[in-house]
Amino acid sequence: MVERVGEFHDGELPPAARLRIRWHLFICKKCRVYLETYKKTVAFARLVFGASSEGGGDAPVPGERVQAILRAVRAAP
Ligand SMILES: [Zn+2]
Repeated sequence: MVERVGEFHDGELPPAARLRIRWHLFICKKCRVYLETYKKTVAFARLVFGASSEGGGDAPVPGERVQAILRAVRAAP
């Protein structure tokens, strides 16, 4: 589920899968919190890495970069 939240956020999932995740987010507080964290992390990654990438700050942030930041955030005390 947690890996799919990123795809859900990036709009990469087919409608049926999006609907399932929407329903899951509705009933699962943990994943809602995770999605919020994910959104913040993407915004943070854009802030940190986006400025230095070519083509302006609107370039999509690679998922692995977001995952790396999330891992770092979780490892923090
Ligand atoms: Zn969940």
